[in-house]
Amino acid sequence: MTFDYAPAPESTSIVNIKSSYDLFINGQFTAGHGTAFKTINPATEEVLAEIAQADQADVNAAVAAARKAYEKTWSKMSGSDRGKYLFRIARIMQERAREFAVLESMDNGKPIKESRDVDIPLAAAHFFYHAGWADKLEFAGYGTNPKALGVAAQIIPWNFPLLMLAWKIAPALATGNTVVLKPAETTPLTALLFAEVCQQADLPPGVVNILTGAGETGRMLVEHPDVNKVAFTGSTAVGQAIQRQIAGTDKRLTLELGGKAANIVFDDAPIDQAIEGIVNGIYFNQGHVCCAGSRLLVQENVAEQVIDSLKRRLQTLRLGDPLDKNTDIGAINSRDQLNRIIDLTKSGEDEGAERWSPDCAIPDKGFWFAPTIFTNVTQAHRIAREEIFGPVLSVLTFRTPDEAVEKANNTPYGLSAGIWTDKGSRILWMANKLRAGVVWANTFNRFDPTSPFGGYKESGFGREGGVQGLGAYLHVEDPS
Ligand code: NAP
Ligand code: MG
Repeated sequence: MTFDYAPAPESTSIVNIKSSYDLFINGQFTAGHGTAFKTINPATEEVLAEIAQADQADVNAAVAAARKAYEKTWSKMSGSDRGKYLFRIARIMQERAREFAVLESMDNGKPIKESRDVDIPLAAAHFFYHAGWADKLEFAGYGTNPKALGVAAQIIPWNFPLLMLAWKIAPALATGNTVVLKPAETTPLTALLFAEVCQQADLPPGVVNILTGAGETGRMLVEHPDVNKVAFTGSTAVGQAIQRQIAGTDKRLTLELGGKAANIVFDDAPIDQAIEGIVNGIYFNQGHVCCAGSRLLVQENVAEQVIDSLKRRLQTLRLGDPLDKNTDIGAINSRDQLNRIIDLTKSGEDEGAERWSPDCAIPDKGFWFAPTIFTNVTQAHRIAREEIFGPVLSVLTFRTPDEAVEKANNTPYGLSAGIWTDKGSRILWMANKLRAGVVWANTFNRFDPTSPFGGYKESGFGREGGVQGLGAYLHVEDPS
């Protein structure tokens, strides 16, 4: 049964949102020269603030500041001193965690329990982890004196705004690079709060620069001739465009793109735990997760049982106010994203799959999408092939482990996969055969700064996190 809970909203009094925000260049908030734009709260459609837009002159100024900081201070500093700054940033993020969490939920629409318990603690953990590496790089396996690349241009999406910032900035700084980062247009606020943290930590000016703006600002940043490294997380289409843009230059590139992960449930799996893993795999963060378990592959003889249990479980999920501590499913990040989800789910119905959602009240204002399951899905359906990036699960069945592998790998993507079974030997056998950068066993969507994350095929290349992720920001010595 479902209990009726009284509302338990997190107070917003801890955040101090200004009416307008400037760019962060060379340690100072600086007016942008482009046309300012607005960021809204997707749960209410209220405008939160006006945000500066960086134009070419601003991009030039930010890259020049990063270059100067690299040459004059950051690359001259010892690893242990760089580490001290990173530890300081990590501690301030922890101290201001509630402020970050509330702001993230307001700007992005994700439930406060996720920003509070996942996004912000993991972002701080990334800084702590990389702070520890800063003075130990000669033991990381990249030669005895690994050198930084220089200025990194970093572009991040809206689904995990502060966490993606941490994945980008922490390894770049630990390895001695300086950065210019562009947050997504719909979620700039926590990156701007992070800029304040850099000031509070006395980080030397120019080591971190934050440029807000739209895709065009990102394009100018990628194209800037004085950038040594580009790190991008977002859609495959933009990733491909970036790769074309920098072809023929000596800029280093890592791309973290989309996914269409298989979450594979065998008949000997602990079904109740698997149900929790399926729910976490696709309904966490409204399914705005590149490694989401968006294709459920379930062994045919338990398919009915799994789908029934899953439907029962979905009836208990609470959709609504992201700031309510009981909320499981928050708002869709933007009207554009909602329209993409609506289009793709419509194609699912048109192509003959069977659609189901629990009864759930949808708030009048804001962007919302009820958790959805499609059964009778074939591998040819668009909803089995394309990334929906919303709370929509496509269910397919299989009979043998070989068939499961075949179907799981039948995708242009290769970011993640999940396996649910009682047999350790089967987990190892499957993990070797799945073309996915991350394979979870009897769990899903677990992240840790020590563990490398990244894709195969159209999910991109390069790894973030762990000792492997350091290599993306260092001149790696050729062992030959
Ligand atoms: P996107 O367009 O790839 O945006 C990602 C980032 O790149 C944003 O900061 C964006 O700025 C910027 N950008 C856009 N065009 C650019 C260009 N030509 N050069 C440089 N930077 C550029 O992704 P989206 O529109 O937010 O989402 C579209 C789809 O991408 C989603 O439906 C989902 O399938 C996928 N996606 C994947 C991930 C992931 O983690 N792998 C994350 C987000 C989205 P603006 O914000 O101003 O557009
Ligand atoms: Mg917003």
